[in-house]
Amino acid sequence: MNKIILITGGSRGIGAAIAQLAAAQGYAVCISYLTNRAAAEAVVASITRNGGVAIALQADVAVEADVVRLFEQVDASLGRVTALVNNAGMLERQARVDEMDAARISRVLATNVFGSFICAREAVRRMSPRHGGSGGAIVNLSSRSARLGSPGEYVDYAASKAAIDTLTIGLAKEVAAEGIRVNAVAPGIIYTDIHASGGEPQRVERLKESIPMKRGGSPDEVAKAVLWLLSEEASYTTGATIDVAGGR
Ligand code: NAP
Repeated sequence: MNKIILITGGSRGIGAAIAQLAAAQGYAVCISYLTNRAAAEAVVASITRNGGVAIALQADVAVEADVVRLFEQVDASLGRVTALVNNAGMLERQARVDEMDAARISRVLATNVFGSFICAREAVRRMSPRHGGSGGAIVNLSSRSARLGSPGEYVDYAASKAAIDTLTIGLAKEVAAEGIRVNAVAPGIIYTDIHASGGEPQRVERLKESIPMKRGGSPDEVAKAVLWLLSEEASYTTGATIDVAGGR
């Protein structure tokens, strides 16, 4: 069976590392992005230069019609997905809960929770034998913050990742008998642009001494766990969350 993977938010950071590793392992890759077309095209160019197959499509995972269109475009260009990585995620500027307005909380939940649910729905509609599919694997990007809470920074984001953990457990049980495995990876503090989005580009440097391994992680270290969960090596693993967090 051809391996066809969709990685949401594959233009930068952890998603871009997952895309590179998936291509090296023989997947035909679709990455989606929100606005950074140049970064997405650079990932595609790097994969194709190395002999892989990759496309990049714009879609806001928080918008249901965008997600439906994204999957239809993947159907037409590469075929039915056999693997989905719900990687697209965001956070807003560091703030206490008593400083947050409802619009901010809605935006975080719309991308991180709603987006992952709708992408998972579209993937199951292609992977499940109920819909003519022949199985597949889904990996959701959670975060150690789901269990640490991110006080004073972004409790809304941490709560969104706790919802991802519940999605992982519930969906895994729902589709286990249909040949679909659903797992999650919970990164700790990884060197990507997301910390700048929160208003603190040097956040990893500030916090690294508090990490048992005394360093931040690389996107590639997260990608390796994701690719293992997607692979046949993980054939009896579903509903699991792997921490990739240096002991944090
Ligand atoms: P990042 O460097 O900020 O990159 C975010 C990616 O998601 C970009 O490709 C961005 O596209 C895309 N994206 C954002 N909002 C989107 C939307 N509404 N629709 C579609 N795509 C969207 O993030 P990262 O650090 O690699 O994080 C990746 C995942 O890991 C996230 O789910 C994050 O919560 C999780 N995570 C990260 C860390 C960490 O320390 N970095 C720790 C724990 C969990 P554009 O390029 O177009 O903006």
